[in-house]
Amino acid sequence: MSDLYVPLSDQYILPLNKEIGATLCDDPDGPCTYLCGNSLGLVSKLSTARVQEELSAWTARGVVGHFSHPHKRPWVSYQDNAHPYLGELVGASEQEVACMSTLTANLHLMMNSFYKPTLNRYKILCEARAFPSDQYAFASQALSHGLDPSDAIIEVTPRDGEYSLRQEDIFAVLEKEGPTIALVIFSGVQYYTGQLFHIPSITRKAKEMGCICGWDLAHAIGNVPLSLHDWDVDFAVFCTYKYLNSSPGGIGGLFIHNKWNNEYTPRSAGWWGHELPTRFEMPPDFRPITGAHGFQQSNPSILAIAALLGSLETFKEAGMIPAIRKRSIKLTGSFEALLKKSKFFVPASDASKATKPSFTIITPEDPESRGAQLSLLFLPSNTGIMRKVFDGLVERGVIGDEREPDVIRLAPAPLYNSLADVENAVNQLDLVMATL
Ligand SMILES: *Cc1c(COP(=O)(O)O)cnc(C)c1O
Repeated sequence: MSDLYVPLSDQYILPLNKEIGATLCDDPDGPCTYLCGNSLGLVSKLSTARVQEELSAWTARGVVGHFSHPHKRPWVSYQDNAHPYLGELVGASEQEVACMSTLTANLHLMMNSFYKPTLNRYKILCEARAFPSDQYAFASQALSHGLDPSDAIIEVTPRDGEYSLRQEDIFAVLEKEGPTIALVIFSGVQYYTGQLFHIPSITRKAKEMGCICGWDLAHAIGNVPLSLHDWDVDFAVFCTYKYLNSSPGGIGGLFIHNKWNNEYTPRSAGWWGHELPTRFEMPPDFRPITGAHGFQQSNPSILAIAALLGSLETFKEAGMIPAIRKRSIKLTGSFEALLKKSKFFVPASDASKATKPSFTIITPEDPESRGAQLSLLFLPSNTGIMRKVFDGLVERGVIGDEREPDVIRLAPAPLYNSLADVENAVNQLDLVMATL
């Protein structure tokens, strides 16, 4: 039997069918088929334990816990427990990452520091249909510099009839418009299509053209291998509640390449970025910690980091990204093969011709150009089929995530999903489609 039938870790707790509204399920007390770790990862046993420890420490010691902690994790430097793991996940030293705040807030912070438009070089290059929060951030940043977003933001769009971006098209824009571009910022893994961009090549090209290059790694961290330091990325931001299973709205993070350490980088400073030895003397002058930690602002939510920490320890036990990615490629590959055998599957090239209820896959076929997620596009377009399929899947205990008008995203998470989950998802999908 394939080892893909056994999850990589038994340290996660899956929601039960009866809890998620799976009314058409034979086994209400059994675990649901959860393929939504790209949106909100599941809770690990260690996350529950770490959060409970902090609640107990707070109960027992109150403010004393900041410096004297029953588990030797004083709150004054609690986030430092997460930094080595986060550094390993993004391919950076622990000084190059900071566990703080939330993704969109960190994106603004990094743009405040690194997006410095001048008269001639002021544009932002990004992907069309970036995650809405990122689009709002880019536009509002342009506005805050007195720029017109419709002029300052260049979006690269897939070719007609295609869903993912071609790197050559990104390069063509960079070559043509490079001298006017201040900042190149893409998502590592596109949230809608699941496309994984070739981060080192795009970063290299952006640098050649004299641009700053940042990345939004919301869907990449914990999902695909990253070597941000070696790839010479300037900065990156991420959330941790997707593949990193850190709890709803969990704490975010950022990466800043240590080449910036020697230059004063303008920043939106706060006291948690001030050197620890003198922080509590409350001096009037800000003396930042060297590296990404000097960008910290507030004392962070200990409960949020505790939940993350339990998950990161579970990642470590499972062998981190090398083991996780290896399994992920097999699991998503098997999922794709099963979907393509469905009688409702049509190739993307035939999508526009579809007249009967059917689906295609808009995620790139090359495993090197995607992470765990597959995005299914339901056809014919704009006929409400996706909504019916989505509701039908939930009734049958399969949790994915819908994007209006026509897409359902399904992501086998290698840590807690198995081949049985993807087989069941395809079987249930066929059953639902047959009722339409
Ligand atoms: C999930 C996601 C977000 C969410 O931002 P928050 O600030 O964490 O709410 C933003 N951007 C991208 C690309 C995402 O995938």
